[in-house]
Amino acid sequence: MTRPHLDTLFYEQVNDVGLRRKLRDARGFCNWHAWQARKIASSALGVAIIANDLITDENKGESGNAAQTPIPLCWPCDIEFNALY
Ligand SMILES: [Zn+2]
Repeated sequence: MTRPHLDTLFYEQVNDVGLRRKLRDARGFCNWHAWQARKIASSALGVAIIANDLITDENKGESGNAAQTPIPLCWPCDIEFNALY
């Protein structure tokens, strides 16, 4: 179930503003989905773009205080959770 979402993300949604905001809010992918992204041959540029976005956001200090702000599920986890419940 996860792989099609990640394929679509890296194929056509890397520059989607709303999706990038969700990824920033979740501080990227969970460990599982980060490893899944690694298995997608065409994901290298997308991963680099998203990683650059996350690091830039973190350096700006706009991601909030981790101790006080609950971190939402990573984007693919959120899709899977909402599909199940
Ligand atoms: Zn996840």
